[in-house]
Amino acid sequence: MPSFFADAALLPKGWARAVLIEADADGDIKAVTPQAAPGDAVRLPGHVIPGVPNLHSHAFQRAMAGFAERRSPEGQDSFWTWRDTMYRFVGRFSPEDAEAVAAQLYVECLEWGFTGIAEFHYLHHQPDGAPYADRAEMALRHVAAARRAGIGITMLPCLYRHGGIFGRDPVPGQRRFLNDVDGILEIHAGLAAALRGDDNAALGIAPHSLRAVTPAMIAVVADLGGPIHIHAAEQMREVVECLAATGARPVEWLLANAPVDARWCLIHSTHMTEAESAALAQSGAVAGLCPSTEASLGDGIFGLPGFRAAGGRFGIGTDSHVGTSPRDELRQLETSQRLALQARSIATDATHPHPGRVLLDAALAGGAQASGRPIGAIAPGMRCDLVALDAAHPALIGREGDALLDAWVFAGQGNPVRDVVVGGRRVVEAGAHVARAAIARDFAAAMKRLAA
Ligand SMILES: [Zn+2]
Repeated sequence: MPSFFADAALLPKGWARAVLIEADADGDIKAVTPQAAPGDAVRLPGHVIPGVPNLHSHAFQRAMAGFAERRSPEGQDSFWTWRDTMYRFVGRFSPEDAEAVAAQLYVECLEWGFTGIAEFHYLHHQPDGAPYADRAEMALRHVAAARRAGIGITMLPCLYRHGGIFGRDPVPGQRRFLNDVDGILEIHAGLAAALRGDDNAALGIAPHSLRAVTPAMIAVVADLGGPIHIHAAEQMREVVECLAATGARPVEWLLANAPVDARWCLIHSTHMTEAESAALAQSGAVAGLCPSTEASLGDGIFGLPGFRAAGGRFGIGTDSHVGTSPRDELRQLETSQRLALQARSIATDATHPHPGRVLLDAALAGGAQASGRPIGAIAPGMRCDLVALDAAHPALIGREGDALLDAWVFAGQGNPVRDVVVGGRRVVEAGAHVARAAIARDFAAAMKRLAA
C-alpha cells in the first residue's frame, strides 16, 4: 500500500504538520493523519498540496505553441487568424504524432503540478476527413499518452458538426473534426469500453460551441452522463454572431435553452454581462478559465470580481498550451485583473487575504467538479494526487503556508514542484518526470515529422 509523509500538507480544513497520507492499492486515499510519525512512508519534503486539475486541453496544439506568433500577411492578427494557422497545421498529424505530442504535454503538466487533464478532443479523423478504421483511434491515442505519462484524464470527445451558428457549412480546414451525432456516439462508446475500470480516468462529452452544433444536438449529448464542456463567449465576434442569429448572447442562450447545471463547464465565458455572470454562478456550472491562452489570443479579460461575488465556481485550463503550469495560469488570472482594474489582490476578501490560496482553492474545487472525478483535496475517498512544493527552493525560501502559496503563484520563474504523485504512484521525483527522457525523444521525432 503506498503511503506518503509530508512535513506540511494543505488539508480541507487548512494546513497541517507531519501528515501521513495512506492510499489503497487502487490509488484512493484511505487515511490522512496529521501529527503522525513517518514510519516507512515515502517522504515528500516541503509543502504538499492537492494535485491541480487542468480542465481544458487540446493536446495537439502543444506542437504549435509559439509557432503562430508571426504576423500573418494580411496583418490585423486575432483569434481568427490564429485559427487559420491551426487549421493548416492540423492536417499533418498522424495518430503516432498525436500520441507523442500529448505524452510530452502531459509530462510537462505533471512536472508543473497538474495531476489531471480534461482533454477536449476534436482531432478525430484522417487528413481527408475519412474516419480511421476505429473511429475512436485518435481519442484512444490520448488515453494511451495519459497512461504512459501517468496523468489522470477526463476524455471529452467533441461533437463538431457545423462551421458557424446554427448549421453553417464547415470549411475544409475543419474536416478532421466533423461528426454527426451517431459518429460521436460511436467514439464515446469506444472510449467508454477503453476506460472501464480505470480509476485515473473519466468520460464526458463536449459539444464544441454554438458555432459547431445545433440545439437538438446539445439536447442529445447532454443526456449521456458525465461532465459536459462547451466553449462559450471567448470572442466578441462570437457574441455578435450569436446575437444576430438568436437574439441572445452565447452564455445567455445556453442558460435559457440548455440544461446547464453543475455537470457543465463553460470554457472561457470571457464576454458576459453582469446578469449573465450572476446567472452562470447561480447555475452551479464551472467557468473554465484559460488565462494564458486567452491572453495569447487577445480574447479579453474574464470578469472575476462580479463572478466571485455571486458565488461562481471556476477552474483553470491550459487550452492551447502556451503555458503548462497551474502557477502561470493563476498568476495571469489575477494579474490581468490588476491591470484592468488598477488595483491589487482582486481575488481576496476580508476573511481570505491570500490570493494564492484563494485562487488555488477555487481551481481545485472547480477543476475537480469539471473533471467529474474524486480529486482536488487530500482526504479519504479522494484519489491520492499530491504535489510537493520544495520549501527550500529560492522562490519559496522563508515562506510558510498560505504565504508560501502566494510566493509560488506570484513570484519567481523557477519551478519549485519537487515531487508529484498520481493515484498513489510517484511520477515526478526531485523535479523530473520518471519517463521524461524517453517521452521527449518521441516528441522530438514527431516534431521533426510535423515540420517536414
Ligand atoms: Zn479550447
